[in-house]
Amino acid sequence: MRFTNRTAVVTGGAQGIGAATAALLREQGATVHVLDLRAADGVTACDVTDKAQVDEVFAGIGRIDILVNNAGITRDNLLFKMPFEEWKAVLDTNLTSMFLCTQAAQKVMVPQRYGRIVNLSSRSALGNRGQANYAAAKAGVQGLTATLAIELGPYNITVNAVAPGYIATPMTAATAERVGSTAEEHQAQVAERTPLRRVGQPEEVAAVIAFLASDEASYVSGQTLYVNGGAR
Ligand code: NDP
Repeated sequence: MRFTNRTAVVTGGAQGIGAATAALLREQGATVHVLDLRAADGVTACDVTDKAQVDEVFAGIGRIDILVNNAGITRDNLLFKMPFEEWKAVLDTNLTSMFLCTQAAQKVMVPQRYGRIVNLSSRSALGNRGQANYAAAKAGVQGLTATLAIELGPYNITVNAVAPGYIATPMTAATAERVGSTAEEHQAQVAERTPLRRVGQPEEVAAVIAFLASDEASYVSGQTLYVNGGAR
């Protein structure tokens, strides 16, 4: 029970990696606030691209020990076909949301002199055809992470990023559908070029997020940890 008496916020936690992370943190003793676009059982509605909503929701939470900036979207297109709205939506949801949520969370983390922030980057940060918007946002996440680790370190707040490879979630199932494959066919193709010969599961990313959010990781900050089955 390494998270007893800890309060966590997980954005985009209604499904996929965020839901697996929320479940694991809860299982290990944390009180978890899940934020997502639509309210549901155990899920608070909060569009993390909207500063007014973020400020209001975070102000209502009180103590926050752990922030997992997980909400994300893809809008894949080659550059010449990418509408400006798709560029902007992906930057807003994957990167600007982290600025907004972290700014709101540090208001309580700094005075309490404790915080663990974990940001979701991606293997795509290194470049991926059809993902100029997503790659730019996820590379931005790594720069934001390194910088906030420097700024917030003096207050006993660590900031790290996790960069998953291909994980079986509703996000990647939607990608498969877009390219005309079933989720299984798509996963089999990815598995072939992955050293571990399979795609990842949300729980395998959640375990790494939980480590970075724990006291065991107390001297790890400013890092990006790839969770990608050895893929390049
Ligand atoms: P999912 O699409 O399965 O889940 C993301 C969740 O975020 C959804 O519930 C989604 O809601 C929510 N969300 C989207 N926009 C907002 C918003 N503006 N405010 C609040 N919530 C929002 O994604 P994954 O679990 O696959 O991915 C989680 C994170 O991991 C993302 O940041 C993603 O980029 C990253 N990642 C995922 C990889 C993968 O292979 N799956 C690989 C590398 C990184 P809704 O469904 O209604 O849009």
